Amino acid sequence: YSKRRGRYIYPRYKPEMNKRNNELMTIQSDLYRALERNEFSVVYQPKVSFSNGRILGAESLLRWKHQTLGMISPATFIPMAEDNGLIEAIGEWVLATAATQSKFWQLDGLPSFLLAVNLSGRQLQEDGLLDTVRSIIRTSGIDPTLLELEVTETFLMQDIDHSLSLLHELKSIGIRLALDDFGTGYSSLNYLSRLPVDTLKIDRSFVVDLEESKERYNLVRNVIRMSHDLGMQVVAEGVETQTQFELLKSLNCDEVQGYFISPPVSPDKFRMLLENQPLIDNNYNLALPAFA
Ligand code: C2E
Ligand code: MG
Ligand code: MG
Ligand code: MG
Repeated sequence: YSKRRGRYIYPRYKPEMNKRNNELMTIQSDLYRALERNEFSVVYQPKVSFSNGRILGAESLLRWKHQTLGMISPATFIPMAEDNGLIEAIGEWVLATAATQSKFWQLDGLPSFLLAVNLSGRQLQEDGLLDTVRSIIRTSGIDPTLLELEVTETFLMQDIDHSLSLLHELKSIGIRLALDDFGTGYSSLNYLSRLPVDTLKIDRSFVVDLEESKERYNLVRNVIRMSHDLGMQVVAEGVETQTQFELLKSLNCDEVQGYFISPPVSPDKFRMLLENQPLIDNNYNLALPAFA
C-alpha cells in the first residue's frame, strides 16, 4: 500500500530524479578512467569569413562517449573535471590532440587556418600552463601563430592583474587569444580595452535575440564597432538562421560560427570542409549542405 501511495504522491517525478542522480554519480566516477579508456575525441567547428565564405579558423570541442551512457555533454562533465582537478590532464590532451591534428592537415597541404582550443579558468590558474603550452607547440610542430586559446570573462575578472600578466605571457609565445562567451559575464568596456585579446566571440544568447529585440540589435552593433576600434576581430557564435547571418554580416561582424554553416564535425569531415571552400556563396548556398 505504501509503495502505491508513494507513486500517487510523486507520479513519475521521484524515480526520474533518482535515475539522473545515479547517472551523474556514474559520470563523475567514470571520468577518472575516460582518458585511459580512450573515450575522448575532438570535433572541429569551422569559423567562416562573412566576406568570402572561407574557413579562417576552427574551434576544437571535446567529446566523451561513455561506454554505457553514450555521448555526455561537455556542459555536464567539464565543470566536474574542473572540480576534481582532472581538467588539467584533459585540457592538455585536447590541446595536444588538436595541435597534432592541425599539423597533419598542414603537412598534407590543406589550406591553413587558425586552430582554437578552449581553456577553462582552472587551467589558467595552473602554474605549469605556460610550459605545457610551449611544450605542446614544440612536440606537435604547430606554428604558434596558427594557434588560438579561448578564455572566458568570468575567469579573467577574478584576479585582473594576474590574468593580464598571464595573457601577456601567452601572447609572447606568439599565439592568439579570444574572449569566449562575450556578454555573459560582467566585464566593463574600460577593462576590455586593457586585455591583449585578438578576437571577441559574441555569445549565442545575443545572436538568438538579434531578431527579437531592437535593443539587443543595437547592443551587438555597438559591441562590434567597439571591438573594431580596439583592433579586435569579432566572431558570432551559434548562428543558426539565414536571417541571423544577414543581420550580423550587415553589422560588419567578421566571422560566423554555428549550425547555419556547419555543426562541429569529425576530423574526416573537417578535411572535406577544408577541401570544399568557400563553404557558403553569395546566394547562401552551402558547399556541403548535408553537413548543416
Ligand atoms: P563554447 O566554447 O562556447 O563552445 C561553443 C558551443 O556551442 C559548443 O557546444 C558548440 O557545439 C555549440 N554550438 C555551435 N554552434 C551552435 C549553434 O548554431 N547552435 C547551438 N545551439 N549551439 C552551437 P559544446 O561542444 O557542447 O561545448 C559546450 C561548452 O563546453 C563549450 O562552450 C566550452 O565552454 C566547453 N568545452 C567544450 N570543449 C572543451 C574543451 O576542450 N576544454 C574546455 N575547457 N571546455 C570545453
Ligand atoms: Mg569556445
Ligand atoms: Mg563560446
Ligand atoms: Mg557560448
